[in-house]
Amino acid sequence: MNQTGKRNTDLRLYLRLLGYVAPYWRVFALSVVAMVVFAATNPGVSALQKPLFDHALIGKDHTMLMIVPVLFVGLFAVRGLASYVSGVALHSVANKVIMDLREAMFARLLTFPSRYYDNHTTGGLISKFTYDVTQIREAATNALTVLVKDSLGVLGLLGLMLYLDWKMTLMAVVGGPFIILVVAAARRRLRARSRQAQAAMGDINQVLREVIAGQRMVKLYDGAAQETARFHRVANDNRRYNMKFAMAAVVTGPAVQLIAAVTMALIIYYAATQVQSGGLTVGDFAAFFSAMLLVLGPLKRLVGINEHVQKGLAACESIFGLMDEAGEPDGAATDIGRVRGEVEITDLSFRYHDQQPPVLDGIHIHIQPGETVALVGASGSGKTTLAHLLPRFYEHAQGTVTIDGRDIRDLSLASLRANIAMVSQDIVLFNNTVRANIAYGGSRDADEAAITAAAEAAHAMDFIRALPAGLDTVLGEGGVQLSGGQRQRIALARALLKQAPILILDEATSALDPESERQIQLALEELRHRHTCIIIAHRLSTIESADRIIVLENGRVVETGSHDELLDNNGIYTRFHAGRRTA
Ligand code: ADP
Ligand code: MG
Repeated sequence: MNQTGKRNTDLRLYLRLLGYVAPYWRVFALSVVAMVVFAATNPGVSALQKPLFDHALIGKDHTMLMIVPVLFVGLFAVRGLASYVSGVALHSVANKVIMDLREAMFARLLTFPSRYYDNHTTGGLISKFTYDVTQIREAATNALTVLVKDSLGVLGLLGLMLYLDWKMTLMAVVGGPFIILVVAAARRRLRARSRQAQAAMGDINQVLREVIAGQRMVKLYDGAAQETARFHRVANDNRRYNMKFAMAAVVTGPAVQLIAAVTMALIIYYAATQVQSGGLTVGDFAAFFSAMLLVLGPLKRLVGINEHVQKGLAACESIFGLMDEAGEPDGAATDIGRVRGEVEITDLSFRYHDQQPPVLDGIHIHIQPGETVALVGASGSGKTTLAHLLPRFYEHAQGTVTIDGRDIRDLSLASLRANIAMVSQDIVLFNNTVRANIAYGGSRDADEAAITAAAEAAHAMDFIRALPAGLDTVLGEGGVQLSGGQRQRIALARALLKQAPILILDEATSALDPESERQIQLALEELRHRHTCIIIAHRLSTIESADRIIVLENGRVVETGSHDELLDNNGIYTRFHAGRRTA
């Protein structure tokens, strides 16, 4: 990108960030005013040197000797108050902006399609919420404080210096252009380094997540050394990028100071000759010199402001990049209401990546309302993928899927999903009570009787009653305190409570003992004609009683029929069946 283009995008980032500050402009303005007051006291401190030297010390004026210290204290009282007010106001705005940014990001996060999550690590995403956002706060508060307080401070002190002796002041500012050159040279490197440091922070998060979630596996397979090495790699990357950033940032300091020292030496020489020849009073010299010393601090911070700005801009890029990510394509806002549950899949093909062979290939399936269909097939044959296309977790490119005769792409996602209940292969339980896990989302206001009934139907109530606090037992992260089969039954209760016309069970009973599975089988039997059921299962008992069994192989429907028909066929299902029976 060329320099102007880059400046334009920088400007857009600033303006966009400012948009988040806008609602708090009053407090923000207060903070800026307080900074201006603070800056205004700067030349006052230097200016006091003149009466101190010329009147109090050399002129031996006693009143002045009393007044100067009092003024001095007063000045610092004002300074302190202004600094306090500006600090509190600025941080209050900054923290509100951070919270707003996080909430805006979170609101976007849940609109992203499954594909987005396939392509991003959890650690990287979390890092945007935790690390990158705080980078903006640090950067913005630092940069703004420096920009207002210090640039005004410099201006005030320069004004005083000009007033005292314009020729010496001109000499003092000749160093300026050189300083600007040095700073501009450092600027370009800074943002790239900061971006790398952010990405490395995401990697640290990711390794931590994986190791914490997989701690048992790591221990059992003796993976500690390997994980330690992996952590060292990402921690070291993070250190290296931060170091590179710091190097690029600090290299400007010494160069700037050297330029300043040379300039000051010239001025001291000149000023001393002026005092000797009587052109300047000692007080003038003291005031000028103290102003020049005072200007160095703010000047140094102004020079370093770029460091903060670049960090902030890199974080803005990362955060606004997330916010600009396209959400799930929602159909026309058609609300279909409650469907009867007729599902018709016509010539459906799907692939996850363009280069790869199709995962689903020319599928035709017509399911009547209230019918129970079992999907059978080897692992990887596309069963889960098919189940995920119905609620449009992924968009299919070819073929159509209709529900009650309506193309699912013409329905709003909310309306479509309201009609589908699913127990997926990977059970998701929240760190909350059993009750809240069953009555989740749209069902969260379900009454006790409905929740208990769903839990009974899922054959979960017996073990729930045995938990320390029954339905109010908190499950712990991911439901760690439960067995696999118990987790599945809670997920099943959640799906049953939703009472959606279409129920999809993706290997939802795989972790159950035969007895519990038989019980659930009976429960499903009762629901049978009220719901359209698509059941993906390996266990025979679940499959055998289905109205129809559909056998998938490599993404194609290869056999369809009832259990007995398929056995008579003596095809893939028969082999599958034989294999299962002996297993
Ligand atoms: P099944 O549920 O029948 O075991 P899946 O539908 O899960 O099979 O997977 C079918 C194929 O699609 C597999 O080859 C798998 O590697 C691939 N696949 C599944 N999920 C994804 C995904 N999110 N991204 C890319 N490929 C995937
Ligand atoms: Mg599967």
